[in-house]
Amino acid sequence: MTFLDRITFAAPAARLDRAAHRRAEAETLARAPGARAVALSEGRIAVALDGDKRLARWPLAALEPAGEVVFLGVEDGAPLFALDLGPLDEPMRERLAAGGVKPIDLRSVAAELSTLDAGIAATARSMLSWHERHRFCSACGRPSAMLDGGWRRRCEACGASHFPRLDPVVIMLVVREDHVLIGRQPQWPPGLHSLLAGYVEPGETPEDAVRREVMEEAGVPVGRVRYLAAQPWPFPSTLMMGYAAEALDWPITPDPAELESAEWVSRAEMVEALAGRHPRLAPPRLDAIARSMTEAWVAGEVEGP
Ligand SMILES: [Zn+2]
Repeated sequence: MTFLDRITFAAPAARLDRAAHRRAEAETLARAPGARAVALSEGRIAVALDGDKRLARWPLAALEPAGEVVFLGVEDGAPLFALDLGPLDEPMRERLAAGGVKPIDLRSVAAELSTLDAGIAATARSMLSWHERHRFCSACGRPSAMLDGGWRRRCEACGASHFPRLDPVVIMLVVREDHVLIGRQPQWPPGLHSLLAGYVEPGETPEDAVRREVMEEAGVPVGRVRYLAAQPWPFPSTLMMGYAAEALDWPITPDPAELESAEWVSRAEMVEALAGRHPRLAPPRLDAIARSMTEAWVAGEVEGP
């Protein structure tokens, strides 16, 4: 197991079968006696707090959804769904609390969940958020309705189909002679530094997006680029694609519109930062792929690109 195998928010395919071929029969599956559901309320995910923190799963029939019910797949042989409970009234809040369950912001709890639970929570959050924000057809503006267990919306008026949205972002471990390029955005918590990242644009490969973003943000030319790993980032629906990139020169010119600062950091300094012992640099958050990529580089798991 390397650092790049431990990516938060990626549901392991071996544990959650997304069962795409069964989406058309999702309504029938929802009536199966063993059907279970995970729940959100106002963007927070219901977590069981007794013992190790884990995602709460209920019999689907025991919950009253406030909106769409999305078929996530099959877990341990049972259909698994995601739904939104809407704002909780006091009796419901008490009912959850009696079962040791509380809705929690996924960002604050993800690092404490199992890989499977964080992955299921991420899928649930992204999918429910997509339905909430895409009620109307982007082609004609009329209302659309959910199909295929939530994996498609279709416009009744013009017939257009709409699929869950995903925004591709590249994030890069830019290295040169045992140094890595890190930057800092002004709105981040004090001391926090991370890898550079940016959206992939239409008509562009991820590799070219890596070269363009590093040049735009830091003025550093990049040569070879190699794919490392990816992370679904459910706030609301980004796909972070991690690359190793070879810098061709040292001088840095940070773009003040994007970065407060950017600098080269040696491997030894990064070891101190990751251990929380660096006087000035705080590392990326535990659940971010930037952290996994940095840990992998420090551990020697990433050779040059
Ligand atoms: Zn339409």
